[in-house]
Amino acid sequence: MKQVKDPRHPSYITYHPGVILMMVVMKNASNLESMREMTDEFNTDNCIENLSKMLGIENLEELPHYDTVNDFLSRLDMEELENIRTYMVKELINKKCFYDYRIGGKYWGIIVDGTGLFTFREKHCEHCLEREHKNEETGEKKTTYMHHVLEAKLIAGDMVFSIASEFIENESEDVEKQDCERNAFYRMAKKLKSTFKRLPICIIADSLYACENVFQLCDKNKWKYLIRFKEGSIPSVMREFQNLKILEDSSSYEGISWVNGISYNERTVNVLEFVEEKEKDKRTFIYITNINVKKKNAKRLINAGRSRWKIENEGFNTQKNIRYYIQHPNSHDYNAMKNNYLLTQITDILVQLFEKGSKIMKAAKKKASNLLRAFQTLTLIEEDLVDLEKPIQVRFT
Ligand SMILES: [Zn+2]
Repeated sequence: MKQVKDPRHPSYITYHPGVILMMVVMKNASNLESMREMTDEFNTDNCIENLSKMLGIENLEELPHYDTVNDFLSRLDMEELENIRTYMVKELINKKCFYDYRIGGKYWGIIVDGTGLFTFREKHCEHCLEREHKNEETGEKKTTYMHHVLEAKLIAGDMVFSIASEFIENESEDVEKQDCERNAFYRMAKKLKSTFKRLPICIIADSLYACENVFQLCDKNKWKYLIRFKEGSIPSVMREFQNLKILEDSSSYEGISWVNGISYNERTVNVLEFVEEKEKDKRTFIYITNINVKKKNAKRLINAGRSRWKIENEGFNTQKNIRYYIQHPNSHDYNAMKNNYLLTQITDILVQLFEKGSKIMKAAKKKASNLLRAFQTLTLIEEDLVDLEKPIQVRFT
């Protein structure tokens, strides 16, 4: 964080970029809802001393006002924060402690899904997505202005780490067709491939992604995919699957049936189905994939496909309603909004490791919500800083 490229003119710099960024990370981790609360809660001698020790920055007498923070974030290039996240994710991948969670012992599951972030009644900026609503009774038309994001999260056991965020936004006000989730995915895929060139990836997504362009892109990138398959996604493939399933050509094991090698355009695809019966409830999960389905991996694939709920649950619901409140824009400036969002994703990686990454923390049920009090009332001492330098063993059970 101390190394980000400072967008400000040198003569106006009072606060080091590291101070500003770390302050926002601490705000997110302490579960403070607004930027104003951050300014109010953190301007104590203890917080200032802790922050200065954490960063190794001396002579820190005050913390910046949130206007200063937002002004910095409105000018900071998003790529600077993306690079920090990439560095963190690469370090985690290289640590090998997550290797067991790979699909088929090889592929890293990456869940991709879009979600709404900010909604406005008035046009907010030239990149806003617009949606028109018509009141059925009065016939009155209203436009909502929105910002959405497409998230890619890396699965590591019961944790999901943000690995890429692509904002769904219009290039300018006069676009003929608005930006959409799938288009954002094509842009994101390009960045993912160039950032993680040789990482064996398996894209896990909902039925919106069951289409030729996505298959083609995954084939080209040498990625695997595991996509929810619904009636109507690709009717010809579904028909063939249903026909072959009842013939002897299909295989089944533990409630999972599958058919490999169904022709679709220039390739073959594989389809697998799991029927879950819980009391009177019967739910069917069908996935389309380019991974060859076998008795050995069928169950693992169904579990990986079903882990998609993690992005809705841990990924979006928690970040919207339980901590971080990602639907609060924190600033009116679009670039600052995006940077605030990225800082939340960076914080979330740290918070998940803090809460779930170490056996001791997990057993002690340490929650990040205690952080604020610790930050305000305790002071880091020399011994803590020495401890921080030591490598920590992250182990999972
Ligand atoms: Zn906007």
